[in-house]
Amino acid sequence: MLLQVLMNWRWLNKSQWLSRDQLYKIQARKLREIVARAYEGTVFYRRLYGVNRPVISSVQDIKKLPIITKDDVRKASLEDRTTRGTDINKCIRKTTSGTTGVPVTILEDPYSAAYREGLNLRRFWSYGVRPWHRIFRVVVGPVEKAFTENIADMAGIWGRIRTNRVTRLSSSGEIHDHLRIFKERRASVLFAPPSYFRALKEVCESRETRLNLKIAVTFGELLDMKTRRMISDFFDAEVFDVYSCTEVGQLAWECPTHTAYHINIDSVVLEFLRDGEDVQPGEAGEVVATSLYRQATPMIRYYLGDKATPIDDECPCGRGLPLLKNIEGRIVDSIIRPDGGYISPFTVMHTLQEVENLDQFRVIQRGNHSIEVQVKAASNIDKVLEAVDERCRILFRGMHYSIKLVQSIEPEKGKKFKIVARE
Ligand SMILES: [Zn+2]
Repeated sequence: MLLQVLMNWRWLNKSQWLSRDQLYKIQARKLREIVARAYEGTVFYRRLYGVNRPVISSVQDIKKLPIITKDDVRKASLEDRTTRGTDINKCIRKTTSGTTGVPVTILEDPYSAAYREGLNLRRFWSYGVRPWHRIFRVVVGPVEKAFTENIADMAGIWGRIRTNRVTRLSSSGEIHDHLRIFKERRASVLFAPPSYFRALKEVCESRETRLNLKIAVTFGELLDMKTRRMISDFFDAEVFDVYSCTEVGQLAWECPTHTAYHINIDSVVLEFLRDGEDVQPGEAGEVVATSLYRQATPMIRYYLGDKATPIDDECPCGRGLPLLKNIEGRIVDSIIRPDGGYISPFTVMHTLQEVENLDQFRVIQRGNHSIEVQVKAASNIDKVLEAVDERCRILFRGMHYSIKLVQSIEPEKGKKFKIVARE
């Protein structure tokens, strides 16, 4: 894998500086290939596109293809969505609950994993992260899962280098312990969701201590201005945000000049739509994403439920990758234990989204620490409720919680939707 990662990195380092036209040509070629692969190799896309393979000669031809939603993906079996010939044993299975709490599972094949690593290296290098920095990454999800993921996607020499250079901590671990580790090992780069930085600050304050980082990279949630300023001031760090999703991969990343986010058009297609039509530059649109490198379970014109604004400006950094701004992504709160302890929203999401036949969920904590878990399920309801209860008992040990079966989970009027909310 090491060689592939380095080759991808080398290519991606060059491609970011290509002209817009050259990049669009590469994008069109990759799109043609992935559509062909999906159509020839999966039952799902063959059924969706009909008897004739769609003809893609430019990126604009993507408009001929139907948009797929989380529901479409959930209704199809993973088998139907998997490309023929995929060695499932070599793939990493990833489940995510996205913005709305509807769990979707995909497979990441070794090719995609090596490509993802190339994208990560391109970004980290641009942010000034170097191998001699003390790098920490908060892995979202339960400890055991973080561990297996670590083993699965970090095999070989590349795995050893990465495991050596980047210390992974699970978001389900005790944040007090994390703080001790950061201090002992003099952490200088921290890669974590915004909610984690907020919780870390609270822990620092309760202990009347500070933590000075150098670089903070956020992902997984909306990074609001207040949190951005807090991370920069309190942790004395330069902050960079990344826009990605598990299903499609890394979509855009903040320019090192902080001008806006660069869209990885050499690796994905992003569309910004209103009523099915492209918005004008400067206008907010609903994001529809296509991965150009996910081979095992291709994702083509996948509706994300986020909003963002494409902009026409050239970036002062000189990269050819176009820009977007104002991402309205996922907003989540942390769950607070009566003793002041913190449960990461990602631990909650990762623990619940694995429940089979669970169509959607939402977790709300009220003022007196009590927790309500809303569950939507159409089949095997008793089994779903039982499995949710079992997981909640471990997640919220000793706390009062109730599980409520609901018909629909919708945002309340005038309120931003949060999968994990504290009211
Ligand atoms: Zn730039």
